[in-house]
Amino acid sequence: MSNANGKVAIVTGGSRGIGAAIAERLAGDGFTVVINYAGGAADAEALVGKIEKAGGRAVAAQADVSDPAAVARMFDMADAAFGGVDVIVNNAGIMRLAAIAEADDALFDSQMAINLKGTFNTLREASRRLRNGGRIVNLSSSQTGLLSPSYGVYAATKAAVEAMTHVLSKELRGRNITVNAVAPGPTATKLFLDGKTREVIDHLAKLAPLERLGQPTDVAAAVSFLAGPDGAWINGQVLRANGGII
Ligand code: NAP
Repeated sequence: MSNANGKVAIVTGGSRGIGAAIAERLAGDGFTVVINYAGGAADAEALVGKIEKAGGRAVAAQADVSDPAAVARMFDMADAAFGGVDVIVNNAGIMRLAAIAEADDALFDSQMAINLKGTFNTLREASRRLRNGGRIVNLSSSQTGLLSPSYGVYAATKAAVEAMTHVLSKELRGRNITVNAVAPGPTATKLFLDGKTREVIDHLAKLAPLERLGQPTDVAAAVSFLAGPDGAWINGQVLRANGGII
């Protein structure tokens, strides 16, 4: 690819939604992209094909981010195939909504396992193995500020991700690695749209002063900035990409 930058980026949950837009954007920016997925092999392989057709470089990598051994194997694969990793985007996540009074253990445990432990698993590998000069971008959510009813457990996992973002940015002193989070607002993906009526979606879309839902490419643009040369001086920050909803 003409604009290849010689750098390698892993995008967790890159098979669809925001992660797929991030993977495509980073490939267009010149990164070799490892597209991680849990179950969506066909989606991930289709995206690899699309990126390669556009002249980019990508590979699909199955790993459930909640499994530390699987995450370590994914980094081993990237090391073996491409000689190292420069960027990790912790995008894989799930959202299960319920009032705290109604939330069952499975709702709590699954979001903790994927959103929080999954991010911890990749952060631990990345902090040991990322090449100097690298970038870490975690996906949080504007729900850490909005704190809407029914989002309690989900928002708690993302608040914890933001806390680790700040701490890790300090722990990586001396390696020229930045650690930031991007916190989208309502964005038109399966995660957001599933289970909501048209009325609810339209209402939520109008809440931001820009009066529309975010698109995955809107969020990918913010990640591209933080992962690319123009983001070099941004470190330990949470960037809300949400049309101004909060
Ligand atoms: P999505 O459309 O549901 O896509 C989720 C992605 O994560 C899929 O690629 C899925 O892969 C992957 N994934 C799920 N569990 C996984 C696991 N255990 N291991 C590895 N990959 C896994 O969700 P999205 O809306 O794009 O959300 C992406 C991120 O943005 C999440 O962290 C979410 O919390 C955050 N976010 C979204 C919104 C929004 O409104 N959409 C707002 C704020 C923040 P498979 O297909 O293989 O399962």
